[in-house]
Amino acid sequence: MPRSHVKLFIPGPIEVSEKTYRAMTEPMIGHRSGDFKALYGGIQPKLQELFGTKRPVFLSTSSAWGVMEGSIRNLVGKKVLNCMCGAFSDKWFDVSKRVGKAADTLQVEWGKPVLPEQIEAKLSEGGFDAVTLIHNETSTGVRSPLPEIAEVMKKFPDVMLIVDTVSSFSTESIPMDELGIDVLLTGSQKALALPPGLALFSVSERAMERAKTIEGRGYYFDFVEFAKNQEQDMTPSTPVIPLIYALRSKLEDIFSEGLENRFARHKKLNSIVHEWVKSKGFEFFAPEGYRSLSLTCVANNRDVDVAAWIKRLREKHQFVIDGGYGKLKGKTFRISNMGDETEETIGELLAALDDTLEA
Ligand SMILES: *Cc1c(COP(=O)(O)O)cnc(C)c1O
Repeated sequence: MPRSHVKLFIPGPIEVSEKTYRAMTEPMIGHRSGDFKALYGGIQPKLQELFGTKRPVFLSTSSAWGVMEGSIRNLVGKKVLNCMCGAFSDKWFDVSKRVGKAADTLQVEWGKPVLPEQIEAKLSEGGFDAVTLIHNETSTGVRSPLPEIAEVMKKFPDVMLIVDTVSSFSTESIPMDELGIDVLLTGSQKALALPPGLALFSVSERAMERAKTIEGRGYYFDFVEFAKNQEQDMTPSTPVIPLIYALRSKLEDIFSEGLENRFARHKKLNSIVHEWVKSKGFEFFAPEGYRSLSLTCVANNRDVDVAAWIKRLREKHQFVIDGGYGKLKGKTFRISNMGDETEETIGELLAALDDTLEA
């Protein structure tokens, strides 16, 4: 059945539900009003549960990169180690230098995970006070072993662990406090299935203490300002209120489904895509054991014309998948299973992919 719009199965932004869009049309409220405080204060407990933290969860009117850059500005006094294994994590090193911080790299080949022993070896060289890590490197479909990395970080108590979970957040359990994560951040347009424009993050107590001692935090992403305002259920500047309405609606969805059910659904849908990949004779870009649960990065070992395939898919079925990120364009393609998808809707996509694979 033709839809009225093109449906996105790219790894962000993803399809947004009618319910979410409707939520965004609630009447506007003042951001210093009791109505806003009730809105933000009201969702805070659910946000904390989702983050696995007792710390406040902050809302930033920016995409995730705002908070990624902010984390560097707020927490790096000596030198940051940027763990790099794909387009998003590589860029973080560039950002560190642009904000004028001392930075070093742990570079692994695209398609490979960042491993705890590699981080340990690098940090043992000394001089670092922060590490950036992308849990789920969206460009390569690689999921690095976060619990094992968090464990190794305990040997370096002065080094802050900054974790980007933009494409894995809420698709699996990532308990911030239990893992000892210092900054956990995500964005609205990927696994949360909201429109882009909102970043969510939480900061450990010790990281907040560190921030207070760091010069040049700026204003817009100053963690201390976020904390001060959050105490009164407010944000430092006027936030994107429609997206916060959307977030409230999405949190209702998430908690009525139940976290465990939500995690299980993502895992199941991911495994359905994996079965399809194997059945078509394609290979995975990421090694076994390190594959993302929220998207699949498929190696184009069959040498199909990916761009032409995606064009046929869009024209005939109004679905879009991704044709490979940056230097992986055409060599890989990516299928998202984030958001509100079901076995039925993933089945529809895979049938459409089958239907359009041959010209
Ligand atoms: C998409 C993505 C980002 C960047 O998000 P923006 O919303 O463009 O700022 C960062 N990290 C990861 C892992 C991503 O998937």
